[in-house]
Amino acid sequence: MVEYRPTTNKCPICKKATEQAFRPFCSKRCANVDLFNWLKGEYALPGAPADTEEEYDPHDGLPQGDRSN
Ligand SMILES: [Zn+2]
Repeated sequence: MVEYRPTTNKCPICKKATEQAFRPFCSKRCANVDLFNWLKGEYALPGAPADTEEEYDPHDGLPQGDRSN
């Protein structure tokens, strides 16, 4: 997790001035970029294959009850 200094009024992504609505970023786009980078860092475990596609199994862990008919 990256720590942002509140005193820095620059977007950590593109170094532009931040926008109040998107702090600490300058725009929603940069916020998304940062989130994406952060998630990538989270999932990129050492030793794990770089092939980290969305292999989400909807049958795993989700309650499948309440199926009328
Ligand atoms: Zn930016």
